[in-house]
Order: sequence, then C-alpha cells, then structure tokens
Amino acid sequence: MDQPPVHVLDLNPDDLQSHLVELFGPEIPSYRAKQIFEWVYRHRIHNFAEMTNLPRSIKELLDLHFCIYASSVVQNRPSNDGTRKLLLRWPDGATSECVLIPTEDRRTACLSAQVGCPVQCVFCASGVGGLDRNLTTGQIVEQALRLIDLCPDETKLTNIVFMGIGEPLANYDAVIGAIRILHAPWGMGLGARRLTVSTIGLPQPIRKLAQEGLPINLAWSLHAPNDTLRRQLIPWAAKIPLDEVIDACRYFFETTGREVTLEYLVLDGVNHRPEHAEQLARIASAIRANVNLIPYNPVAGLGFARPDDAVVMQFEQRLRRLGVNVHVRHSRGLDIDAACGQLRRQNQNPRS
Ligand code: SAH
Repeated sequence: MDQPPVHVLDLNPDDLQSHLVELFGPEIPSYRAKQIFEWVYRHRIHNFAEMTNLPRSIKELLDLHFCIYASSVVQNRPSNDGTRKLLLRWPDGATSECVLIPTEDRRTACLSAQVGCPVQCVFCASGVGGLDRNLTTGQIVEQALRLIDLCPDETKLTNIVFMGIGEPLANYDAVIGAIRILHAPWGMGLGARRLTVSTIGLPQPIRKLAQEGLPINLAWSLHAPNDTLRRQLIPWAAKIPLDEVIDACRYFFETTGREVTLEYLVLDGVNHRPEHAEQLARIASAIRANVNLIPYNPVAGLGFARPDDAVVMQFEQRLRRLGVNVHVRHSRGLDIDAACGQLRRQNQNPRS
C-alpha cells in the first residue's frame, strides 16, 4: 500500500466516520466510529480483530487502511520508586519518551509534545540536539494510551502533564487537539483540571489557550526571575521580556479563573540568592501564582549541579516570609533518567 495507514488516535468521531464513509460507502452505520473509539479508549483494545461487534469484512479493511498504535516500544524502564518510563519509536525513526508517575491516589502521565526541543534551555537535556519535528495529535494521545497499558486493568490515568520533551505551546494545534481527545467523553474523559500544560512562557499561545474554553492548568517554567539571568539560562526567551509573559499569565488567570503555577528549578549557585527570592515573589504576586521549587536533576556535561537540601529549604523559607505560597517538589525516577530528555539523549548517543 502506498499511503501510510490513517492514525485513528489523530481523529475525532466525525473525522473517523467520514473516513469510514469514504472507504465503505454511505451505507455504513453512523455508530461505527463511536464503537471503535469505545474499544480503544474504554476497553483498551488496540487491534481491530478483537472488536467483536464489528463485522469481519469491515475489520479486514480497517486493518489495511488504519492503525491504532503507530509506535513500537523501544525501552520500558521501571524505577525503584514506581515511576515507569517508555521510549517509543515512530515509523520515521523519531523517538519520544513518556513517563508514568504513580502515587497512592494518582496515576500521572508525563507526555512529550515534540521530538527534541527548540527552546534549548542551557541546563536541560531535551534541547541539546535542537528540534527534530513536532509530534502529531495522535502521537501525543498514543503516549497516554501506552502508559495506561502499564497500569492494572480497570485503572485509569488520573492526571496528564505536558512536561516531557518539547515546548507544548510551540506545537499548539497538535497539543490542543490531543487535549480535546484526552478530555472528551468519547475519548479518555479526563477533567480539564486534571490536565496541565507546562511552558517556557509564550505570550500569544498563552492568550489563545485562555480562550479555548478549557479550564486546564498552566505551569510556567520561570527558573530566572529577571531578564538578565533569563537570557543566560533560556537564550530562546531573549526576545520575550518577562513582563510580556507576566501579562499573558495574568490574562490566563482572569479569563479562565485558573491559577498559574510557577515552576522554579533551583540550580546550585545560580538562581537562589536573596534578590532572586524578592524578584520571584514580585512575579508570583503579580499573577497570584503558586511556586514549585524543583531541585535540579543533574545532566552530565551541562555544567549545573543540584543544590544541597538546606540551600533549597532556605530559599523556600525566604519566599514564604515574602508571602509566597511555595512548595518543594522532588523529581521522581532519578534512577531511570526521568528528567526531561535524558533517556532519549542516551539512546541517540550512548557515550553521552
Ligand atoms: N518546555 C516546557 C515543558 C517541558 S520541561 C517547559 O519548559 O515547561 C518540564 C520541566 O522540567 C520544565 O520546567 C523544565 O525546565 C524542567 N527540567 C528540565 N531539565 C530538568 C532537570 N535536569 N532537572 C529537573 N527539571 C528539569
């Protein structure tokens, strides 16, 4: 067959039904698309042969023209703390990583939005090779399904965060398409409040996201509380002054009623001085944001170190005295390289 199969996970029921009409003619019942999605999202069936309420003739043609899973699992690494990380390979050879983070009451999936990352923060493994390409909506959704497959039957993902590789708001249409499927009752059915997009801070897409009518969570990876330090740590953001991002976040909060979270990586000796606390507190108060402090998970060769716990605690206390609602979050899966981009990078260059 010349044409690659259509990726079912890219589609909504109307799109799939149109494809079915094209293939089987207008006499195909209008409920077929919904039936297929029920198998995929509710019963976790990922091949047409097992869809027992579809006629065999239909299943055979579906098999020829469509696929449900497009990736193969290249690595499946369990961590000592229960975190599981998958490395998926797509038909074009590109790879993506995604992580399942189970806790007592949650199963959180951390998804990638792109292959590589255009932002190239100087401390992050994801951006080391730059951007290879965007992921499609179906490829983003597939990561979530692959992670559910790791969970016992009848359990579901409770939360999804776009904190894997890539900048979600630089692949806006595919990411919002995936969010709609993850949220839809015919899809994964997750409440909007259980979905979080993490961004380096792109003002226009943040404003657009605010208007989607989806009260999802927005996390801004701030890391530097003044423009000078920001230019050093996140050179890509040099053309976007902090004030523009602050205005966009304020707009997001006012439009959606959802608080923005500030993610602040603590890099040893770089961004935890008293004046940084004061600058960070001013930003947090301007957008009424909570702050998550994340001790850096060191990446070999990038030249940054993890601060001592006491240093992080001191910075946290200083922020708290300045009226900030602040928490320290520890990255999990340290033993399986669960920080952004580490597994994919290892696979690209085994010596790095
Ligand atoms: N591009 C988006 C989402 C991906 S990164 C963003 O920047 O928000 C998800 C979070 O992990 C970001 O806050 C990122 O800065 C952080 N991160 C990157 N490398 C890390 C590391 N080595 N240790 C801990 N957090 C890291």
